[in-house]
Parts: sequence; structure tokens; C-alpha cells
Amino acid sequence: MNKYDVAIAGAGIAGCHAARNLARMGRSVVLIDRRETSGLGHDWWDNVNMGIYDEVGLPAPEPPELLQGNINFKVFPPGQKTFSFVADTAGKMNVDRKMLAARQLRYAVEAGARFMEKTAALAPVVENDRVVGMVARAADGSKIDIRASITIDATGISGALRQHSSAKYGFSKYISRSEMFVTHREIHKDDARERESRVVFGINNGVQWIHREQPGMADFFAGFINFPGRPRPRDIVAGLLAATPDVKPNLLRGGYGAPIPVRRGFDSFVADGFVLCGDSACQCNPIDGSGVGSSLRAATIAARVIHSALENGRTDVEALWPYNAEYKRLQDASFAQLHALQMFLVSQPKKLLDILLGRGIIKPRDFWGTGKAKQESALGRIIKLMKMIDNPSFIFKLVDGMSTAKKANELYMQFPEKHDPAEFEKWRRGVNQLFATIPPALDAPAEMK
Ligand SMILES: Cc1cc2nc3c(=O)[nH]c(=O)nc-3n(C[C@H](O)[C@H](O)[C@H](O)COP(=O)(O)OP(=O)(O)OC[C@H]3O[C@@H](n4cnc5c(N)ncnc54)[C@H](O)[C@@H]3O)c2cc1C
Repeated sequence: MNKYDVAIAGAGIAGCHAARNLARMGRSVVLIDRRETSGLGHDWWDNVNMGIYDEVGLPAPEPPELLQGNINFKVFPPGQKTFSFVADTAGKMNVDRKMLAARQLRYAVEAGARFMEKTAALAPVVENDRVVGMVARAADGSKIDIRASITIDATGISGALRQHSSAKYGFSKYISRSEMFVTHREIHKDDARERESRVVFGINNGVQWIHREQPGMADFFAGFINFPGRPRPRDIVAGLLAATPDVKPNLLRGGYGAPIPVRRGFDSFVADGFVLCGDSACQCNPIDGSGVGSSLRAATIAARVIHSALENGRTDVEALWPYNAEYKRLQDASFAQLHALQMFLVSQPKKLLDILLGRGIIKPRDFWGTGKAKQESALGRIIKLMKMIDNPSFIFKLVDGMSTAKKANELYMQFPEKHDPAEFEKWRRGVNQLFATIPPALDAPAEMK
């Protein structure tokens, strides 16, 4: 049995970055992934804010990992009659996820982390209410006991370790259906000369797109909230492909999907000896499902806080709490705001989103949530509402929805700085009460309302 400072389950965006940073700080780190090395990363590209690499100390991608092509597309509301044009999405660029995964793993190993491929985390090892490592199934099928002062669950939405943990800590074992997107993505050969990219928000309670900025490739995607009775994303993508006659089916990449958490982050990401990071902590944008930048942010903070806790000989919740407090303010406040907005929008007739996006009352960039959310001035809000004067019934609802979203942001900015169980419970109660005021989703079956 080996003993490490830190054991990390999941060599994705968050796990590799945390492993690299901790190893660079001199910590002994083991990183495991259930996949083999060549299977790491999604078989497509992701749209990532270019500013994030500098912020988290990860060298920026270069071609061919950084894909060419300006990101120009039309954004449509669900009715698809009007659109706003988005040219170059505020510094976001596409990055090849297979190449990024390989590079991140290389950095982690070069920094000194030990990597074990084809090794699946099964459950945390808990002693005296404290996580002291994990049990995993190794490549040869044997069960191994990996001991560590701190164990990180970075296994993505499945939360392989989280789902065995006690709910008392402030995170859930499972993510409910209404808090996840199901997705499907196919990238086909595209020889057409005239190419138009379009993204539709709100349709089927989610997003669908045809992106054709990459030379020679057309990228089809459908993702929506996992309400019972929803269509299959694979069928929606087949429909999009059929409706694009200048692209003949010729699959180059993707051809599968993966679930994405689309809720605000869990109330807390830490327990004694245990840390959640990335999708396993629900650190994704609740409206568009992007999570590369936010997972990198979270992993950067988590690694710094873990190192400092270990320096002081500590592995307890109180010592790990600064990770919660910093991430909540830096990122989760804007994601909580977007989560409230998303819940509000799915509780309303689709016509409202048609009006909001169609008239520019909400702009596509309002959905990106790239950092601390900007609060809008009262004048700005009044001007927006004037654009809805012919729809008075929606004005009050909108004021309500927007004000709940703003309050969510404010509550997250007031997350307790220090670990104090009573203060934390008070904060959680406030959050739960606020989100409970949002009406249930219009399309959710009765038993989910
Ligand atoms: C279709 C789709 C499109 C997306 N588009 C974008 C986008 O454009 N921009 C963006 O920013 N984000 C996008 N995302 C989201 C982004 O991919 C995730 O937010 C990000 O990968 C989260 O990083 P992570 O480290 O938490 O998880 P992952 O990167 O998923 O890594 C988790 C790792 O854990 C491993 N694992 C799982 N279970 C176990 C286990 N039991 N034991 C050991 N290892 C395990 C997995 O093999 C995997 O390597 C998209 C996601 C999907 C599904």
C-alpha cells in the first residue's frame, strides 16, 4: 500500500490540472483514470475563453490543438424567427479536447505526478469520518487500496467517489434529472462553400447548434434538460443533419454524447480529507454547459488551498474551506445567477425567450458567465423593460425572474468566508428558500413539480 499526499480520481480537465499544480508544489500525487491514456478527452473541440490559460498558469494552446476559424454564428430563440449575430465570442476559441487532454496529462507527469491508466475509482476509504484514500480497480482487475492525506474526486458528473459520501457535507450523492443535460454530438465532413453557423437557445429546454466555422467540418450538437419524455438528442442531431442537405453524412469525430451538470455548484466542495473538483462538483455553466474554464479555475484554487492545508498538517473541512469561499465568489456567484435564470426561463412559455432574445433584452453574452457577474444599472433594466411594453403580462414575471437571479448572485457573494457550521446552514437555508420561489419547469412531468 502506497501513501500519497494527494490521490486524484479522474485525469480530465480538473484532475490533471490539480495534479500538475500540486506536484509542482512538491506534493506526492497519484492520478488515476478508468480509461487508457489514448482514450482521454472528448473526440471533439470545445469553446474556451482564451484569458483562462494565463489566469490558471496553463500554457495557451497552439495550432493544431487551437483550431483555426473565427467563431461567427447566429443565435436564435426557440421560435427561430429572429436572430442576433455573434461575431467572435468575446475571446473564446475552439480547442481540440483530445490534444488538450494529452498535453495536460504530460504536464502532470512531467511535474512528478504518478499516473495509472485503466484504473477505476470504486469508493472512498473512510476512517473515523475522514476520507483517507480510495479503493480502485487496477488495469489487471485487482482491487487496490490507495491511501492519501487528501483525496480528490475529479471523475466528472458521475462523481464516482462523491456518490458514496455522506450528504451531510453540503453536496449530493446524485444529480437530479432536472439538473443535467443529455447531449449528442457529431462532426461530419463539410465541403460546402456557403456555410452558415446557427445556435438555437431554449428549444427542448436546451441548446442545439450547427457550427460550420472549421474548414471541411460541420459540427452538429443537441443538448437539453433530462426531463422524462424529452426527445433523444441523437434523433435531434439526425434531424439537423437531414435538414442540412449540403452536408452528406460522413462522420469524422464524435458520434456520441455525455451528460453535463447544469446547476449551480454544490453548496460545499469539501469534507474531511476529501475535495470535489470540476463536473463532479457541478462547476459548469448552467445555461450553455461549458465547464473547461471553470474546472481549471476550481482546480487551481483547490490545489493552492490543499497545499497550504498540508503545509499546516491539516486535512479537515476548516482548512479546506478557503477553496469553497474563493470559488463561490470568483465563479459560482455568476453560475448561481445563470442557474436561477435558466430555471426561470424553463418555467415560462417559450414565447418569453423569443421576446427576450429576439429583441436583444437578453444578449447571448449574458449566458457566458465567464467570471464575476456584472450587475446591471436600474436605468439599464428600465430600458430593457420598455422593449416589452406590448407584453405587459411578461414584464412582472421578468422583473421577478431577474431579481431572483440577482439575489442568487448576491447570496453567493456572501458565502461564509470561514467554516462555521451554523453560518453555513443559515446560508444554505437562504439559498434553498430563494431557489424554491422559482416556479416549476413548464415541461416537467407533474411528479417533478
Ligand atoms: C457534448 C459536450 C460539449 C461540451 N462543450 C463544451 C465547450 O464548448 N466548452 C466548455 O468549456 N465545456 C464544454 N463541455 C463541458 C466540459 O467538457 C466539462 O465541463 C469538463 O470536461 C469538465 O472537466 P472535468 O475534469 O470535471 O471532467 P472530465 O474532463 O470529463 O474528466 C473526468 C475524467 O474522469 C474519468 N473517470 C470517470 N469515472 C472514473 C472512475 N470511476 N475512476 C477513474 N476515472 C474516472 C473519466 O474517464 C475522465 O477522464 C462540453 C461537454 C460535453 C459533454
